[in-house]
Formats: sequence, C-alpha cells, structure tokens
Amino acid sequence: MRALALALLLATVASPALAGEVALTFDDLPTMALSPTTDYAVVTTKDLLAGLKRHRFPAIGFVNEVKLEARDKPERIALLKAWLDAGMDLGNHTYDHPHFTTDAAAEIAEVEKGEVVTRALLAARHRSPHWFRHPYLETGATDEARKTFEAWLGAHGYRVAPVSMENSDWMFAMPYDEAVLKGDAAEAARIQKAYLDFTAQIVPWYIAAAKGVLGREPKFVFLMHATRLNAESIDGLAAILKANDLKAVTLARAMTDPAYVMAEDAVGTNGNQWVSRWAETLKKPMPWASLPKPPADIAAIDNRLEGAVGPPAAPAKPKP
Ligand SMILES: [Zn+2]
Repeated sequence: MRALALALLLATVASPALAGEVALTFDDLPTMALSPTTDYAVVTTKDLLAGLKRHRFPAIGFVNEVKLEARDKPERIALLKAWLDAGMDLGNHTYDHPHFTTDAAAEIAEVEKGEVVTRALLAARHRSPHWFRHPYLETGATDEARKTFEAWLGAHGYRVAPVSMENSDWMFAMPYDEAVLKGDAAEAARIQKAYLDFTAQIVPWYIAAAKGVLGREPKFVFLMHATRLNAESIDGLAAILKANDLKAVTLARAMTDPAYVMAEDAVGTNGNQWVSRWAETLKKPMPWASLPKPPADIAAIDNRLEGAVGPPAAPAKPKP
C-alpha cells in the first residue's frame, strides 16, 4: 500500500504541471516582403494581426524605420500604429538593419535614428521604447564594442530582446511571396506546407537542445518576421505550439526566466541565438547532428531572390 502511494506521488510529481511558454516576436517591421508596395504590406499586417488576435497571442514587432521612407510614409506609419491598436508591442531593430562589428558609436546612432517614429507612437500611449533586437543577432565583434553598446542601451531605457527559438522563416518567406505575386496558388501552398513541416521539426529541436543545456525547459523567445507567409500561417503555427505544449506569453513574461540573466559574453561577427550562448557559458554540447535542415530547393529559390533584392534582412543562422 505504501509502495502504491509512493508510486502515485511520483507519478504526480513527474507529470508536467505547467505548459511551456514562448514569446512571439516579429522582426523587420512594417514588413519583410519581396514586393515593395504598401498594398502588399497592408494585407500582410492586417492578416498577421488578425491571426494573432484570433488566437489571443501577445506579440511584439521590431521596427526598421528605414522601411517607412517612401512617398506613402503616413500609410506605412499607420501599419505600425495598427500593431499598437491590436494590443501588441513595438521594439527597436535599428534604423537600417546594419551588421554590428566593432563600431559601437555607429550602432548607437542606428538605434537613435531608428526610434523616432516608434517613440512618438508609444508616447501617444504614455509608453516608451523598451526592447531592442540586434539585427542578425550580432551583439558586437569585440568585448569593448559589446559593453559600450549595452551600457548605452541600459542607460537609455532599452533591454536586449534575446532569441532562443527560430525557424528560418525568412528563408521560406521570399519564395512564398514570389508564388503569391505570380498568382501560383499551388506553389504557395507547397512552400507553406514545407515551412510548417520544418517548423514542426525545429521547435521540438530547440526545446530538446535547451533542456540538454539548462537541464530544464526555459521560457522561449521565438524569432520570426513580419511576412505574408506568417500572416497566412498563424493557424498552422498555433497548432505546432499547442503540439509542443507551448503557450504564447508576452516578451516581458518570457524574460522573467532566469536563463536570460545568465552571463553570456559571446563576441564575434557571427550572430547567434541564446541556446548556443548558454551552451558556451555552461560548456554543454549542442545537438547539431540532429538539427533539421530547411529543404534545399526552397533555400535555392531564396538564394536566387536574395541575390535579386540584396542581402537578407535576416537573423540567426544556426551554427552548423
Ligand atoms: Zn532583422
């Protein structure tokens, strides 16, 4: 009888009492798109926000204000306002999405130049910019550049928004846009399926990698981009979160996880997500051998398109 009671007690302790948590973050606002038209950005923003609201997902969008510089600037600013009207937050992702090497002064100037419109929109709601996301997750090529920049961020009310989960969504996004713009529904559907299949593999990979490194599951911060593909994939993404027992929470909530105050002082030109950074700090291995790879044919389409439009406004390439 005592053995049975003990077994029941152990079963209770072993069962997962709490769902995992993840903050959804979308970079390169107002949108990252193959089409330069504001109409395309309007549809993307409207559908993305509608999907997030339908699922009651809180989210934050990180802005590159260079993308507002167009003849129809007021319409583009209205897209940012739509994020706030939908109850979402906005953060700073620099003005022009530069690489951050050794020049802290240049990076600081980019943050200042990149907050003008966002600060005004937040001020109208008695708020101020709080979160900063490094372009390409590059936190500085030297210790001095990193420390100088982060000291400036802290003194100006900013907190770094790390990334501990990503799904290379940018690689699928331009091929998807191309199919949409050509009116090729079958190709768009094929790319969307490949994207969701890949996401369904990489989300549990990040969970397993983080558990291996930390010995427990942290609250995740998921990097995606403000794309048409994500706008039209929210239901599929929601199903993947549910299948992995992940509940969407605010960035502030995810950042209460003590893993994000763990010292990590990575320097170098190679931007990296935080699970890898924790692994370096704790001298734990990352399971690179089991890292899912995006389909080669879609990567090839993306390479062709990125070659046509310039370098990707993209993040975290997992280190092979
Ligand atoms: Zn970006």
